[in-house]
Amino acid sequence: MAQLAYLRDVATLSLEAGKCIGCALCEIVCPHAVFAMVEGIAVIGDRDACMECGACARNCPTEAIYVKVGVGCAAAVISDALGIKSACCSVDASEPLENGESASSCGCC
Ligand code: SF4
Ligand code: SF4
Repeated sequence: MAQLAYLRDVATLSLEAGKCIGCALCEIVCPHAVFAMVEGIAVIGDRDACMECGACARNCPTEAIYVKVGVGCAAAVISDALGIKSACCSVDASEPLENGESASSCGCC
C-alpha cells in the first residue's frame, strides 16, 4: 500500500542544511520517514508526507529544522481525540453536509 500523503506543497517544513551535524535524530523520530541521511547530512525526502507534528524540530540539537506545529493533520487528530471540535479535520466535521460539500472550514476533508 502506498504511504499516506498530506496535502501537496503545504507543509511548513524546512531544513537549513548548513546547521546539520548529522546526528540523525530527525530521521529516527519522524513517524513518516520524511528525512534521510545522505553523506552524513539530513535531507528532506518526501516533504508532502510531513504531518507537522514537530518531533523533528523539537529533537534537532542545532535548530536546523523549522516546522509550524499545530496546523497540520497531527494537530487535527489529537484535537479530535481530546474532544476539541475546533479542529478542521474532526470526525464530526468530516461528515459531508446535506448538499455534499465539506463540513470542514478549510475544505481539506
Ligand atoms: S536532527 Fe538536526 S542536526 Fe540531527 S541530522 Fe537532523 S537536521 Fe541534522
Ligand atoms: S514534523 Fe513530524 S512528520 Fe513532519 S518531518 Fe518532522 S517529525 Fe516528520
